[in-house]
Amino acid sequence: MALQKEEHAVLTVDGEIDYVLERKKIKNINLRVKPDCSVYVSAPQRAAVREIEGFIKAKSKYIKRAKEYYRSCPKIKPVELEYVSGETIKLLGTEIELKVVRGSREFSERKGSVLYLHLKDTEDIKRRKRLFTAWLDGVCREVFTDIMRDVHGRFSEYNLSFPELKLRTMTSRWGSCHPYKKIITLNRRLIEAPRHCIEQVVTHEFCHFVHPDHSKDFYALLQRMYPEWRYSKAVLESTVVL
Ligand SMILES: [Zn+2]
Repeated sequence: MALQKEEHAVLTVDGEIDYVLERKKIKNINLRVKPDCSVYVSAPQRAAVREIEGFIKAKSKYIKRAKEYYRSCPKIKPVELEYVSGETIKLLGTEIELKVVRGSREFSERKGSVLYLHLKDTEDIKRRKRLFTAWLDGVCREVFTDIMRDVHGRFSEYNLSFPELKLRTMTSRWGSCHPYKKIITLNRRLIEAPRHCIEQVVTHEFCHFVHPDHSKDFYALLQRMYPEWRYSKAVLESTVVL
């Protein structure tokens, strides 16, 4: 049976409220505000819209308070690593398992899908983190620079000098660029995504060396240089949550 879900809006004393209405075999009207602040109403098959909206109007204060509450909640943060054996990280769309090993000197080494952290003192989280971060930065530099070389080649008609790469951990953007200083800054967390997603971000930043804004010309260039950019952007946003 097809779900009967419809989107509506009703004007209340607390402003306009958008809601999703679903009709079900139930006796009473029910209303719920979800954590994403959307309003969901279920109603009996034959309830009149006027009756449903009267119900919503009567609950407008509650809806307003619930939305305020959810908006004030901090977003769920990704689990913090402790850099211990058994933990997994995402790398270029695949999973890598961490293994902490006690040894006479400190070094990291990747074998297939396992990253070994060799440490003298395996109990010290600061040392584990430092070793891991150094390894990850090395991988980011290697992969990002390789992609930048590919993309730079595609822009040969513009005679761009090869930009400097800076790594940052950012919570609101994938990358940025400084068109005059020829610097591209990339979010370390991009390394979690498949290569084509990183390529999309790098191509976007290279397009800014030609068009610093987000004008029509900018998007026309991006489209020409990376026709699948919309797809790669969508994959990136569903793979890595900032
Ligand atoms: Zn941009």
